[in-house]
Amino acid sequence: MLLWGREAGKRMQARVRRLGIMGGTFDPIHYGHLVTAETARTELALDKVVFIPSGRPPHKKVRDISPARHRYLMTVLAVATNSWFEVSRTELDRPGYSYTVDTVAEFRRGYGGGTDIFFITGADACLEILTWKGVDELLANCYIIAASRPGFSLTDMGQRLGSLVSLVGERIFTLEVPALAISSTDIRRRVERGKSIKYLLPEAVEQYIKKNSLYCLQANDEEG
Ligand code: NAP
Repeated sequence: MLLWGREAGKRMQARVRRLGIMGGTFDPIHYGHLVTAETARTELALDKVVFIPSGRPPHKKVRDISPARHRYLMTVLAVATNSWFEVSRTELDRPGYSYTVDTVAEFRRGYGGGTDIFFITGADACLEILTWKGVDELLANCYIIAASRPGFSLTDMGQRLGSLVSLVGERIFTLEVPALAISSTDIRRRVERGKSIKYLLPEAVEQYIKKNSLYCLQANDEEG
């Protein structure tokens, strides 16, 4: 937990009724992610949003993403000024692949049945949800908020989700976020090409990227 000590955390946890869990690789985190979380918090009246950097994403090669400690620290820096936001290390500290079903089950156990859990992530990622491990259990434990760029079609999403189509609108919602025109891929490319990334992400994250030479061609490929 980022902002509170253990005891304060317990008190906070006790009264949380609507919990947002913001899942992503966050390589790096940017204003699109932050605006998404804040929009979800205000639109859905969430008590807090916990950011969960993916530990070992099942669908990505580890060597293609930055070391977990960098992605975690950038996320911590990015949310530091929002008292409704926290960062969790749960997927970083759990051995093996980071399956969302396991993460949500862990939060479900921690918060109990009286809390509604909203798993927030990118709509593109959600389109693949049928291929995710334990999708039935996942949807039983939480609502899914699929954050999309403007123009993303809910109808297309329904068609792509096949057998889950009846859940679109019941358990799976889309949230249009214009700021998601910003993308981590674009930021990494800009850094690689020496272009400015100013105003695409918090300045502290920009400085962290510079200081640690992330996304440069010679970037190290250490893990952890
Ligand atoms: P991704 O494939 O890297 O991203 C897909 C799209 O969604 C990209 O456009 C990405 O933009 C956007 N996106 C990702 N996270 C977002 C967020 N929190 N808010 C708004 N947009 C977001 O997806 P990923 O980041 O690896 O995975 C997303 C989440 O799904 C993670 O929590 C991951 O663990 C989970 N997931 C679970 C399984 C499974 O359990 N089997 C499989 C796949 C993914 P940016 O590149 O700009 O972020």
